[in-house]
Amino acid sequence: MTAVAAIAALALALLPACAERADPESSPDASIRVVATTGMIADAARAIAGDRAEVRALMGPGTDPHLYTPTRTDMQRVLNADIVLYNGLLLEGKMGDALDRARTAERRVVAVAEKIDPEHHLHPEELEGEPDPHLWMDPVVWRLVVEAVRDVLIEADPDGADLYLANASAYLAEIDALHEYASRVLALVPEEKRVLVTAHDAFGYFGERYGYRVMGVQGISTASEAGVRDVERLVAEVVDRGVPAVFAETSVPDRNIRAIIEGARARGHAVALGGELFSDAMGERGTYRGTYIGMIDHNVTTIARALGADIPASGMAGRLDD
Ligand SMILES: [Zn+2]
Repeated sequence: MTAVAAIAALALALLPACAERADPESSPDASIRVVATTGMIADAARAIAGDRAEVRALMGPGTDPHLYTPTRTDMQRVLNADIVLYNGLLLEGKMGDALDRARTAERRVVAVAEKIDPEHHLHPEELEGEPDPHLWMDPVVWRLVVEAVRDVLIEADPDGADLYLANASAYLAEIDALHEYASRVLALVPEEKRVLVTAHDAFGYFGERYGYRVMGVQGISTASEAGVRDVERLVAEVVDRGVPAVFAETSVPDRNIRAIIEGARARGHAVALGGELFSDAMGERGTYRGTYIGMIDHNVTTIARALGADIPASGMAGRLDD
């Protein structure tokens, strides 16, 4: 143990023990402990590692990663983990200190979205050269991140390589099926209606992959508030294009989206609330929407139906009815 790690361990020993109660997520047989920031990354790690790792997501359903500040318990989990997986590309705006401390304590800390070939990153004007962090919105790009998660697990635990490879290939096949479904149903929306208006700009990769124009009231991060002008600009777009529906997000307050609906109505255009999308967080743990596949299936099905595609509400494999 290095001096730094010893200090970190000592600091942990001094923390009150009350945080460590019996924990339904802990798996006693697991040989490695993985902590992931977002649910989407944790879902990949769980699918690939199975019982071989105990995987935790720091950010639960409805949590906004741009604004999320780690708790003391998170800090403890990060420092106790063998592997810490985070998205990177500045998604976790307030996790910098926690990740630095984990690195100092010689944990294996990996920004998974930064492990893929940068040619897959989108560079929206707003970010002035920085890449858009919302990679999970395009299953074709996200599968590369899943491969990166698999490779980190193999590197950390080579004895589990066969299991990780087999599980990853099954999970990647599900992601491929998801992409096929998304391509098919999103193409059923009339071309002029392929406009996605949401609370913040999380859907750039989605738009790029499936040929949708995407517009968020807030920018790529939720850290800066939208102004009256942002709302007015979008109201004008919605009215001019005759957009039939706009969408709220589970991890962002819906007041701006409601303001657009009201603004459009005041100008004589009725626009519906098309539903609530999962942008930066998945649904409840233990439900279909609480998985990456379920999250994207829900989004794709909700968007396609609200914008005019005649497809079943039950989604890709009938599971959205659960
Ligand atoms: Zn976001």
